[in-house]
Order: sequence, then structure tokens, then C-alpha cells
Amino acid sequence: MSAASSGSNAFSESTRLETKALAGLNCWACNTTQPQICPVVAKEDPQRDIWEEAGLFTFSYESAENAIPLCASCHVEFDLAIDPGYVFFPTDLKFFIDFEMEDRERRRIAAENGHPIRRQVPTAVQYRTHQQENGMISSDAICGLYRRVFLKNILHGGIFPDLVRSFATSKEWHGNPMASIRRAIAALGSSRFYVVVDPEIRSDLERLRNLYFGDETQNPESAHLRDIYKLDAQLDNKRHLEDQDDSGRAAKKMKDQETEHNINIVEGMGSTNQCLWDPDWVLGPDSTSNKVMQRYGPLFSSV
Ligand SMILES: [Zn+2]
Repeated sequence: MSAASSGSNAFSESTRLETKALAGLNCWACNTTQPQICPVVAKEDPQRDIWEEAGLFTFSYESAENAIPLCASCHVEFDLAIDPGYVFFPTDLKFFIDFEMEDRERRRIAAENGHPIRRQVPTAVQYRTHQQENGMISSDAICGLYRRVFLKNILHGGIFPDLVRSFATSKEWHGNPMASIRRAIAALGSSRFYVVVDPEIRSDLERLRNLYFGDETQNPESAHLRDIYKLDAQLDNKRHLEDQDDSGRAAKKMKDQETEHNINIVEGMGSTNQCLWDPDWVLGPDSTSNKVMQRYGPLFSSV
């Protein structure tokens, strides 16, 4: 999000120190020294409300849960909304998919019993515990693993192409996993993401997006817009409008016939709007009023 970053100014001094203690003193992505402490979900992120509404964001944006040390280059690339060059997200996306499937069932049962409940999402501690229980990280690890993905070869201007390999390994991050997933789902809109990221990983992220935003009960405030664009609703609305006024429909039919007649005249002259247009000089200084009427008269009469 190009508007994303207020950089280190987004955090208090104590939060910056806490982030360095948890994530290290260098750039978390490429190990460059003197990084900034950057927000993962920016204060200016215009989608924060919909993620909050869906119960996906439950952390403080000003806390270390939303902070990561990044050097200037990685920070700029991370914040490019249309074409990000860097993104990171949980290595074990299937854990988040399974968690959401189980929570969805829990929500369904609660709703059927007349006591609807809000969505729950994995915390950093739950993700770490899952990875520890499955032997993916050591028992004394302080957080779960995240995939580091350079979508562009930005390191040292790309003069050492294999350098990225050194920073493509999964790495522990202390923050809230949903913050990183927000950025990864945003990156799904980039063609570069499709070119670089393995199809299985991409598919897991797409599935997670569908699970998080495909459950209509979790985004009630968007119901009005959603209902307008439902295909069944659009069909019903069209039928309603057509049946509403027979005379109007008859008038419309006459108008359509008239328009069709005029189009036939124009086509009969071998001239559509596109064909009439000549980038050099359609009506030159030698054009007569008769020639103008001959070319454009049918178009005016069809309006
Ligand atoms: Zn960096």
C-alpha cells in the first residue's frame, strides 16, 4: 500500500525496541543493517474496516504484533500496492485453512442453536504451538515460520541473482499472522505473484481468501451492496422493471425499431462511427454542407 507506511513513526519508542528484541536488529527480509520498524497493516489501509468487520483483525495496529524491521529498499517494495516486490506470510497456510473450516462449523452450530458467535482466527501463539507440536520448529522457538518472497530481484540491484536464495528460506516472525496474510492476499492481485509463487502455495492463499470473505454472515455491513449485485436479484429486478409498465415497454419497442432503422441506414452507407473516423482529415477544407449532412445526418436523426 503505497500509502501504507508512516514507517517507524507509526510506533512508540518502547514498541520499536520490543520489535527489535523479537525480530532482530537487521532487516527481517534481507539482513541489511539499520532497518526501520514498519507497520505490516498501515493506519491508512482502506480495507481495515472490512477485515475488522469479518473478525480477522483483532490486534492493536500500534503494537509489536503489527511491526517488522525492514531496510529502506525492502520497505518501499513491500509498500508498493499495485506491484509489490516483497511479501511474507505464514509458511503453513494449511493450518489457517483447517482452523477456519473448524471455526466455520463451530459458528454454524452456534447459529443453529440461536446463539451466533463471532469468528475466531489463529493467534501468533496458536500458530507457534501448532508448528512445535508438528516438529516444524524447536520447542524453545518464540514464534512460527513465515515464507519470505521477493517478487522482484531487488537485492543489490539484482547483480547477484542467486543472492535471493539466501533470503528465501522461511523465518520466524513474532507478529500477528493475520496482518501478514492481509498483505499476501493483497499481493494475489499482482501478476508477478502468479509468475513467481508456486501454484500450490498460491492456491492455498486463494482458498483462504475465499473462506475468509465467502461467508456472508461475517460481513453483515456489506449486505446491502452484496444483495444488489447478486445475479438472482439482478434478474428479478430486471423482470420487475420490464413488467412494471406495458406502455413504457411498447414505447421502448418503437424506439428500438427506430434506432435499428437508423443504424441500417448508416450501415447501408458503409459507414459506422469507427469507419467514419479518419485520424488525418475527415472533413477537409473542401467539404460542403451537403457532404456533412450526407455523412452525419443519419446519426443525428437516431438520437
Ligand atoms: Zn531489506
